[in-house]
Amino acid sequence: LSFNSCGLTHKLLLNLETAGYEFPTPIQMQAIPVALTGKSMLVSAGTGSGKTASFLVPIVSRCARYRSEHPSEQRSPLAMVLAPTRELCVQVEDQAKILGKGLPFKTALVVGGDPMSAQLYRIQQGVELIIGTPGRLVDLLTKHAIELDYVMMFVLDEVDCMLEKGFRDQVMQIFRALSQPQVLLFSATVSREVEKVGRSLAKEMISLSV
Ligand code: AMP
Repeated sequence: LSFNSCGLTHKLLLNLETAGYEFPTPIQMQAIPVALTGKSMLVSAGTGSGKTASFLVPIVSRCARYRSEHPSEQRSPLAMVLAPTRELCVQVEDQAKILGKGLPFKTALVVGGDPMSAQLYRIQQGVELIIGTPGRLVDLLTKHAIELDYVMMFVLDEVDCMLEKGFRDQVMQIFRALSQPQVLLFSATVSREVEKVGRSLAKEMISLSV
């Protein structure tokens, strides 16, 4: 299997080439075609497996397609990735920018430590993907500052950490503000408990591991 056979737009294929992604990694081969259909998945894959692109390729593809099919709709966020740390969010955003170049695809980083006003302004200018840590996102939600009705894809990176006690309430609060999005869960390890909570987020959840 190649990236070519996934039905991606020419521009996205070019961006993958520019990124130096010649062939999909095993996890990408399994996850990308399924995620492109809108199905929810729980994927166990470690760092270095190419898991980030496993969710970013479907996100860029589905978001860019949605925008071109709904040109006159207001530009509200269509996808959200939550990760436990600012550093991880920055890495995800860097890769998302490379993959989304030249497409109707903009990102906003919503993490603690940066001024909230600048993050809000960027979102209000119109973005497709929000990448953030749960705490700052809950702050924005509580202020009713962002419109999340159009979010159709929800990703938890490092899901084991994201559904642990310290983060779980915030993550669930954010999830409840969404309208039944596709849910993509990624982690190197998936504990029984996380699997149970994770499965409760979608009607049907496909399990994948490499
Ligand atoms: P990740 O597992 O998402 O942290 O990715 C690990 C590294 O592999 C990152 O530096 C990616 O840029 C790179 N990578 C991801 N997918 C591919 C691919 N298909 N071909 C080559 N490198 C890749």
